[in-house]
Amino acid sequence: MDLKQFVTIVEDWPKPGIKFKDITTLMDNGDAYRYATDQIVAYAKDREIDIIVGPEARGFIIGCPVAYSLGVGFAPVRKEGKLPREVVKVNYGLEYGSDVLTIHKDAIKPGQRVLITDDLLATGGTIDATIKLVEELGGVVAGIAFLIELTYLDGRDKLDGYDILTLMQY
Ligand code: 5GP
Repeated sequence: MDLKQFVTIVEDWPKPGIKFKDITTLMDNGDAYRYATDQIVAYAKDREIDIIVGPEARGFIIGCPVAYSLGVGFAPVRKEGKLPREVVKVNYGLEYGSDVLTIHKDAIKPGQRVLITDDLLATGGTIDATIKLVEELGGVVAGIAFLIELTYLDGRDKLDGYDILTLMQY
């Protein structure tokens, strides 16, 4: 299936000059959403995954159906102040300023093999921060899966040494 036909390119959103890749038109098509999920499930099956980790909010949309299909758990990575119990934190750079991502301290057991999921790889900053959280808890990043990779931003370079699956490239 050609998944790109389900991605809507939104010109000048959220700022002039940005061509935003809107994946809601992939998710609201049952066949496309299931096909994309199945590709990631097949990738995960080769990697003996114990748990899926995804950053809010679109990392949940990609990761949760994969976790359900594999019969493993899902641990959310969220912005600071959203998780109710003890967390570990990481600062990460944004285009302007920085932000903080957190994960519950007991979400991953040392040695667990983790698949990280998100909708889109741009500069790699969000997933680089997510990797730091997983590794701080002793998790092993066994794979990282995205629907979309913006190849011209070289996000892969930032994630050098990790195994990456992307279903579409722009
Ligand atoms: P990065 O941290 O790799 O620079 O940016 C990736 C994050 O920004 C992802 O969590 C993703 O949801 C969001 N993002 C950036 N650009 C786009 C886009 O064009 N479409 C979508 N759906 N998400 C984007």
